[in-house]
Parts: sequence; structure tokens; C-alpha cells
Amino acid sequence: MNRRDFFGAGAAMGLGMALNSSTNFAAAQTTAETDRRAEAKLRISSQLGPAPGKNDAEKLANMKKYGCEAVEYHGGCVGKGKEHKEMANDAGLEVSVICWGSCNGDLCSDVVEKRQPGIDALKRALETAAEMEARGVIYVPAFNGQTKLTNQEIRKLLLEFMPEVAKFAASMNTAVIFEPLCRMEAFFLRQVADGASLCRDIQRIAGTSDDNPGITVMGDFYHMDTEEANDMGAFICAGKKYLKHVHLAGGVSNPRRTFPGENDRNYVDGFRGLKYIGYTDFCSFECGCAGKDKEEAFKKTIAFLREQWEKA
Ligand code: MG
Repeated sequence: MNRRDFFGAGAAMGLGMALNSSTNFAAAQTTAETDRRAEAKLRISSQLGPAPGKNDAEKLANMKKYGCEAVEYHGGCVGKGKEHKEMANDAGLEVSVICWGSCNGDLCSDVVEKRQPGIDALKRALETAAEMEARGVIYVPAFNGQTKLTNQEIRKLLLEFMPEVAKFAASMNTAVIFEPLCRMEAFFLRQVADGASLCRDIQRIAGTSDDNPGITVMGDFYHMDTEEANDMGAFICAGKKYLKHVHLAGGVSNPRRTFPGENDRNYVDGFRGLKYIGYTDFCSFECGCAGKDKEEAFKKTIAFLREQWEKA
């Protein structure tokens, strides 16, 4: 057994444990056949907040200078895609995604009248993402306190309205990206695998292609620190088809949710999962900075992440 076979069998065993016994054999076969480590790349992006600089132009220039390939914009860019794409391109960057959020939980609100305007707003964000050639729009169904619907009711509702939105996104070569959050922030959708199974069910109804299902999921290393038993297993569950984005942040120990490397959060296990599925989309900073010199801290965290990637 060579190293590749050994790794494949080990990962398949790990994945198999998360599945029921009747699917173990099929999962083991599929996983062993889809070792795509040779294709994987660590492509770094950042939101404007964590990047050092006095203004957006300086931040974008520093991102490029320290090795980022893309910028992740907030929802404020919706309707202003052309200028935001130009700003990124002028700095030599792509646009990774739009971090849009929950729209106050309107799409999954217990107040029925709020839902359609929320869906329309998500579609406008998708149009801007398409205009900027971004991978997709990060969407959170509801933060705690934003809906009175139960877990089961939200899932059912998403299966009703999201297939059409997924088709709309896929037709423009972009995607909705579910973001699982930790329990302190959301009761619905907390694990990457749960998000992936939701994507699978929505894709089945939408009938979109495997190349771009239009409905995808992401992992955030901060939230995963609370919710995932195994980072590698979480990313392998989503696979290359559904995993579209990653947020880089420290874990829950102090200093909480700051630049990777500033607390004890380890990325090797998660990066091993990303390598295994041949991940080539972006890993993007969404975090604070504990260091006094932000530019120095930015440089240091990128070097730290590249080391972790090498170890994975
Ligand atoms: Mg996040």
C-alpha cells in the first residue's frame, strides 16, 4: 500500500464513521477514488476589515503586496458591482465572494410577507456577484432571534424557495453559499456537513449541474472550532462540488477570533481536508487582530498559514 492508498483508506474510514453502515462501502470507494490533492491550492483572500491600510485603496494594495489573490466585499457593494470589480482589478485582485448575511432573517421569517422581498434582495446580490465574477454570495438563513420558525420548518422552507434561486444563480455562473455558524450565533445550520446535505437536497429539486449546483456551503474556522469534531471530515463531507469558500479566523480561545497564529487554533487538519478534495476556491480572512502592528500581523499570519498548508 503506497502513501496515497493509505491516506485514501484512512480518510474513507473517517468519513465512513459519520455515515450509516449500509453506505460505508460506497463511501469508502468514492472517497478513495476522489483523492485530488495534486490539484489543491491555498488561495488567500481577505475582507477589507482585517487588511492593514488607512483606506480601501491602501488595504487592497497591501492585500496584493502580501500575497492575497482576491478581496471579499460586504453587502454594501450590491448594485455597485462595476466600480467594486474595477477597484479590485486595479489592485491586481479578483473578487472572491460577497459576504451578504441573513437580510435580518427575512427569507426564513415567521412573518410570511417578509419572505419574498428577502428572496428578491438575495437575487440582486447574486446579480452583483455575477457582474464581479465572484464565486457567490454568503447567506445565513437566520441568526438567533431572527425567526420564530423551528429548525424543521426552516429546512422545509429552504427546500421550497431555494431551488429556484439556485437555478437563477447557476444561470449566471455564481452561487448561493450557506454559512454554518456556531450555536452562540445561530440555532439553524451549524455544521458544514449539514449545509452540504441541504445543498444536495436543493440541487436534486433544482436539477442544476454538478459543475455548478448554484447552491453551495462554506466553512469558517472560528465557528468550526465550536461545532465540528473534525475539520478534515467536515470539508470532505462537503467535497469539491459543494464547498465554495472558507473563512480564516482564530478559534474560541483567547485572543478569540483574531488572525490565525495569534491563538492556539490549528489549521493542519482542515487544510488536509481541503487538499484531499482538490480545493481551489478562496480562503478569506474574517477576523480581528490582536497584534499592535496590523501590517506586521497580516504578514505573519499569511506566512503561518502557508506553513500550516505545507504541513497538511
Ligand atoms: Mg464567517
